[in-house]
Amino acid sequence: MNPVRPYAVKKRVDVPMPAQLLDGKTLAQHIKTQLQTWLAETIPQVGRPPGLAVIWVGDNPASAAYVGQKQKACAQVGIATCGGHFPADTTQTELTALIEQLNQDERVDGILVQLPLPEHLDSAKLLHLIDPDKDVDGLHPVNLGKLVRGEPGLQSCTPAGVMRLLRHYQIPLAGQRAVVVGRSTLVGKPLGLLLLAADATVTLAHSRTVDLPELTRQADILVSAVGRVGLITAAMVKPGAVVVDVGINRTEKGLVGDVDFAAVQPVASWLTPVPGGVGPMTVAQLLINTVQSYAQRYGMVVPATVG
Ligand code: NAD
Repeated sequence: MNPVRPYAVKKRVDVPMPAQLLDGKTLAQHIKTQLQTWLAETIPQVGRPPGLAVIWVGDNPASAAYVGQKQKACAQVGIATCGGHFPADTTQTELTALIEQLNQDERVDGILVQLPLPEHLDSAKLLHLIDPDKDVDGLHPVNLGKLVRGEPGLQSCTPAGVMRLLRHYQIPLAGQRAVVVGRSTLVGKPLGLLLLAADATVTLAHSRTVDLPELTRQADILVSAVGRVGLITAAMVKPGAVVVDVGINRTEKGLVGDVDFAAVQPVASWLTPVPGGVGPMTVAQLLINTVQSYAQRYGMVVPATVG
């Protein structure tokens, strides 16, 4: 008979757990169901559905996909869409008149100009024309100003969607070091402000940042919003960091983000997939913004449980 051997004292080996997914697709679906239920009760009381005008100019194929996703999501929850697809040679004057008309239209709660616009158009001027109360993309200076001041207002969909995703997964933000790579007005800057408002210590990095890896390795929360395949490698991620990939890059293999997903998953604690992470949250936030704008018009409050 073999003698009973004492328990071997094994050297502790830290086996890294692969990052858990920040599943935007499932959360967005949940939000849509909640919105649909609330609207089914609310629309008969108000007498009309919420209305979103989508203005899409030219033939950018990415815009076609985004506009399609947004219209489909609106139809799913009960938001009526209008606006339309305009030829690439549509003039600034024509779009100005359209936005002014939509501002006055009582059936329209949200106006969205799908970017990018063809080069001959001045997108900033057009965005400034949108009634701030209908600015569901949160890009009007009034809404951006409210964001800076920490006042309630319509917030840019991608940054607000990212914050909603982090909140849903109870990712601690206060006192955490957040590094946002990308400083656009659409994503990087407003997201930096929202993380700051959540008491994170925020750094915005960009194309002129010196030694990006040295900076990203300090991040407890690392967000990439650049649009460059493979920008964020495993060596740039602090072990246990939460990594949010906003980037969307069209490759032969399909849609990929900025983060080397396979290499970073063993290092990070939480990670967004692409697709299925930030993208669906952007669309869900657009629905929330439109419904909030609609509710506000009638003095109603959308319950916090909705969305
Ligand atoms: P943008 O081109 O306006 O900004 C890109 C930013 O990246 C700039 O601030 C630039 O300084 C920075 N940058 C460029 N090269 C860099 C480098 N080598 N190192 C560090 N920073 C660098 O783009 P955007 O509109 O902010 O979008 C960024 C990405 O996010 C794109 O891939 C876009 O498709 C994607 N996006 C996704 C969603 C979504 O819903 N998932 C929404 C909006 C944008």
